[in-house]
Amino acid sequence: MIPYGRHSINDDDIAAVVQALKSDWLTTGPVVEQFESELQNFVGAPCISVSSGTAALHCAYAAIGLEPGDEIITPPITFIATQATASFFGAKIVFADVDSDTGNIDPAAVAAAVTSRTKAIVAVDYAGHPAELDELKAIASRHGIYLIEDAAHSFGSKYRNRAVGSIADLTAFSFFPTKNLTTGEGGAVSSIHPELLEKARRFARQGMVRSPMDFRIKSEGPWHQEVQQFGLNYRLPDILCALGLSQLKRASDFFESRKKIVESYISILNKSEGIFLPSQKKYVDPMWHLFPIQVKKQFRESIYKYLHAKGIKVQVNYLPAHLHPVFAELGYKKGQFPKSEEFYERKISLLIYHGLNQKQVEEISKALLEFFYKIDDHLL
Ligand SMILES: *Cc1c(COP(=O)(O)O)cnc(C)c1O
Repeated sequence: MIPYGRHSINDDDIAAVVQALKSDWLTTGPVVEQFESELQNFVGAPCISVSSGTAALHCAYAAIGLEPGDEIITPPITFIATQATASFFGAKIVFADVDSDTGNIDPAAVAAAVTSRTKAIVAVDYAGHPAELDELKAIASRHGIYLIEDAAHSFGSKYRNRAVGSIADLTAFSFFPTKNLTTGEGGAVSSIHPELLEKARRFARQGMVRSPMDFRIKSEGPWHQEVQQFGLNYRLPDILCALGLSQLKRASDFFESRKKIVESYISILNKSEGIFLPSQKKYVDPMWHLFPIQVKKQFRESIYKYLHAKGIKVQVNYLPAHLHPVFAELGYKKGQFPKSEEFYERKISLLIYHGLNQKQVEEISKALLEFFYKIDDHLL
């Protein structure tokens, strides 16, 4: 059996966690700051660590002060957390269709969806391929709204030689085990605006204000801390930051092994009819999180079953968000975002992770090609 995802934990990772367990801090100690500062070196903007990618998105929306009546523009091709966290602020979720090649939100569709109530454009770097960030930023600045990047797939990716995390107003990362690096559960928010990151930080730390300069109550003693806006507990403990620090040292290895897997798939599959490989814009250097191929709709389910029967646990990411019952209840329907729907109906994610070896990549590719030979035979 070849599983869909597999984290990579080595002896250094284990030693780092054990050391944190033996230290004076289990949570909110020195390793949190070290991890956040190494993250900053990596993504090129100040970061806070949080307990999940979902928490990171929730914090990003808190930072921009998302409120009832506000609208955010999002792509249907994403994991539902992109929308779920915004709807907790009472925001209206607006969808803009995707580019059929990358599955990323189409800037033209975004421009058409902006209204006077739009507060933010939320781009998702599907499969690790950065969205059209410069175009989206231009639209955002023309309308005086924010660009938030759901970079749960794209930690380590580059866009026009800039690291993902240093481009959008706020960027949300996930460190779930299947993602590009892991802390078990975890995530981070980066921002190029210190005041927005501070708001995200407060939201993730119970809304607590600790710096006397910012106090509204001036009369309390040296023990004082105060809450000016509610927050939640989204802290990432020292134990997991220690794992994150150790994983960060391995990030370039993870990058290389994912790249090699992509190159192998492409070299084996690129001549075969019926398999459409993911396209890559010239100006991006993705850390591929998924390897999403497209096939004719009528074959997708049979291919999925054929590969699963061989123990190759391919996946389909994702049911377009607007088709979930939670949105159907708000009046969204099939047919409204045809490119996203078609993208979904044609796609399968082949396996990709550090530790998936060349032999397995060949085995997966061979099984896929075999499926098409059998179809041909059948048709003959
Ligand atoms: C994984 C993921 C998230 C949520 O991250 P968690 O760490 O699982 O909470 C959000 N958005 C996208 C696109 C994801 O793939």
